[in-house]
Amino acid sequence: MRLIFLGPPGAGKGTQSQMLSESLGIPQVSTGDMLRQAVAQRTQLGEVARGYMESGGLVPDDIIVGIVSERLKKNDCVKGYILDGFPRTVVQAEKLDEALNGSGERLDSVINIVIREDELVQRLSGRRVCGSCQRAYHITTSPPAKEGICDACGGQLVTRADDEVGTVRKRLEVYRNQTSPLIQFYAGKSLLRDVEGVGEIREVFSRINTAIAGK
Ligand code: AMP
Repeated sequence: MRLIFLGPPGAGKGTQSQMLSESLGIPQVSTGDMLRQAVAQRTQLGEVARGYMESGGLVPDDIIVGIVSERLKKNDCVKGYILDGFPRTVVQAEKLDEALNGSGERLDSVINIVIREDELVQRLSGRRVCGSCQRAYHITTSPPAKEGICDACGGQLVTRADDEVGTVRKRLEVYRNQTSPLIQFYAGKSLLRDVEGVGEIREVFSRINTAIAGK
């Protein structure tokens, strides 16, 4: 199954796509996680991406398309994948279409997590991620068992640099201008499945499963 998770920053794409990846047995391909790892490891990609990410802007399309197409060629993607945070612009979506057409593959669904902006700001400010395995937490809605420590791997939880309030506003603006046109793009291909993003994590997960099953 080939799926895309669409939605503004803080909608829960990372958490939900990680859960779905575990239940379907296909990889979660998160461009944000790949870029953060590159930044942490100070690779050439990381050095280029850092400035764009810290300011809340987007990394240029050609760089992102390059890393995603390399990732999708790996063996674990043969049975499908969940794209989390990609595509984020119409150019990226068109490039993905070209690549899929070229290999005779197709997308199954695009899950669009719908959520109000004031809810997003609140969510992002309480968000913490594991510095080692990237698992996401929230200080009030999904805290770890032991404060500041990842349940999964014991790593330290950190606040992402781009979750600072000013940067969050900029990321939301970038979403509105550059990413939200993808809603029309995929609706036009009859792939879009809107899912209400407010509620318990399990509740949203169940809505996503219903949306996928009803495709
Ligand atoms: P995320 O974890 O998906 O919120 O991504 C964090 C940051 O990484 C974004 O604010 C962008 O700077 C960058 N990024 C992630 N995915 C993409 C993408 N598909 N295109 C451009 N920039 C991206």
